Amino acid sequence: MNKSTMKAQSPQAAAIQPTAPPARPDQKQPPKQSQPPRRPVIQRPAPVLRFSPTTWAKLLYFRDRQPTEVGGFAVTAAEDLLRVEEFVAVKQDVSVASVSFDDQAVADYFEAQVDACRKPEQFARIWLHTHPGGSPQPSATDEETFARVFGACQWALMFVLAQGGKTYARLRFNMGPGGNIVIPVEVDFAAPFGPSQRDAWEAEYKANINAGRWSLLDAQEDFGRDFGAPSDLTRRSIPDDWLEELEAMEPAERQLVLDELAGRPDLWGDRAEVSYECF
Ligand SMILES: [Zn+2]
Repeated sequence: MNKSTMKAQSPQAAAIQPTAPPARPDQKQPPKQSQPPRRPVIQRPAPVLRFSPTTWAKLLYFRDRQPTEVGGFAVTAAEDLLRVEEFVAVKQDVSVASVSFDDQAVADYFEAQVDACRKPEQFARIWLHTHPGGSPQPSATDEETFARVFGACQWALMFVLAQGGKTYARLRFNMGPGGNIVIPVEVDFAAPFGPSQRDAWEAEYKANINAGRWSLLDAQEDFGRDFGAPSDLTRRSIPDDWLEELEAMEPAERQLVLDELAGRPDLWGDRAEVSYECF
């Protein structure tokens, strides 16, 4: 393979193509001289979700650590919101068919990202999770979570990585008429990338991923079956209003909330103004 970019297996790929309205032969064409000058067609590159090799390796490590789902957020480059440079696995309970993030852990993650002067578009729009089976197709629960948690964002992306390497990445637009597009996934070896951080990944895994004994037993029984089917396991998924609330806030308010949230979740309704010094 002499290309610098390796394509991850993607079941479907789609490209946005500008479409012209269908010609209507019955319609009289106006005289040529009255036509407005033709505008050049702007070829926009189709969106692609790109992972840095190190991030991809971390995701594989987490996927393969135990036969359960594992979830987290993508942190992307400021200049390319579809280039994933970090996968952050917050504290979570996992099972063979579910991921349940800890509310406080999500709050802490957002706070840390804001402290690092990142915008929400860089850390709160792409939801990553793995499937312990071979299918990356989102389950009904995945769809419900995506719509509920990310439905108020202008755009969001759901990414699923299955055993065997199959992927699913769907960009959802909520502006205008809205829409969904399944996009290709690539691992980008062209840009510089770091080494394996296996020890750090293992420490992060142990600190954050809680798979109860019941879920592993469940995994053994169900392995190879339909992992996408909703189970009757209790799960909360990503906390309901986090991203919606964060999206709706003014930067100053967001900063205040993130600063204070750790100790005072009641501050969600507070409208106080403070200066926003992160830039
Ligand atoms: Zn899933």
